Amino acid sequence: MKDVTISEVEPFIKTDPPVRLVLRRAKDRETVVDVKGIEIGGREIVVMAGPCAVESEEQLLSIARAVKASGARILRGGAFKPRTSPYSFQGLKEEGLKLLDLARTETGLAVVTEVMDARHLDVVCAHTDILQVGSRNMQNFTLLEEVGKCRKPVLLKRGMSATLDEYLQAAEYLMKGGNDQVILCERGIRTFETSTRNTLDLNAVPMLKRHTHLPVIVDPSHGTGHWWMVPRLASAAIAVGADGLLVEVHCHPESALSDGQQSLTPPDFDRMMKTIRAVAAAVGRQ
Ligand code: PEP
Ligand code: MN
Repeated sequence: MKDVTISEVEPFIKTDPPVRLVLRRAKDRETVVDVKGIEIGGREIVVMAGPCAVESEEQLLSIARAVKASGARILRGGAFKPRTSPYSFQGLKEEGLKLLDLARTETGLAVVTEVMDARHLDVVCAHTDILQVGSRNMQNFTLLEEVGKCRKPVLLKRGMSATLDEYLQAAEYLMKGGNDQVILCERGIRTFETSTRNTLDLNAVPMLKRHTHLPVIVDPSHGTGHWWMVPRLASAAIAVGADGLLVEVHCHPESALSDGQQSLTPPDFDRMMKTIRAVAAAVGRQ
């Protein structure tokens, strides 16, 4: 991809002082994040899939086996869950992290899970291959500073009301701390539209790829809130240049403890994987 001139950057990077390290011109090549040999930001489309929340050993292992069989490379699953209501299931916490270890050992999948609080950073780091910083914490600058000191890949989700400028400044916090293994993730933004949970901003993908060297993935599950929309938006994401996907999968979405309405069943996930393989090939990806 060709470098951009400062005049091309200015229309969207408005703040002063501007971001530096995340910009394409700060580096002479794309950032490829290596997660135990899995390259995110290379030619391969990397799919991360699993339940919204880790609920039990049986739940997690059955989903992990299924997504692996369909071609996912990384298992997602929340152990510390940022829930809007304090009365909703908050996650299994450390017990959930141990179940992620079990699933990694059994399937060989790498693991991504969210860290919500700097006080949990050590324990989450000990059990995960990628640290997820969620939408609600994108501007938790003290957390970003602590995560920036870790030498572990980070999946930074876009804040639900964040402009791309604000998003890149959040990524800059991580890189300024010395952590250059940053993956960006578009997960939908708040708009006036209420028929979907969020509005998946696919404009963000080519815009971020144009201005930064960081890999960009898309989460069509939180981006739509409807399981039946997920495969279509997943295809669209690959078509516009995403480097990967983050997708929620559950064997029994109707009884999931969180986000069942946007979770694919394993057969639906398998069909989605076949389709995106064709889309990836059509855009020169693998
Ligand atoms: C999640 O991926 O489980 C999650 C809570 O997502 P977000 O931070 O995008 O809402
Ligand atoms: Mn979720």
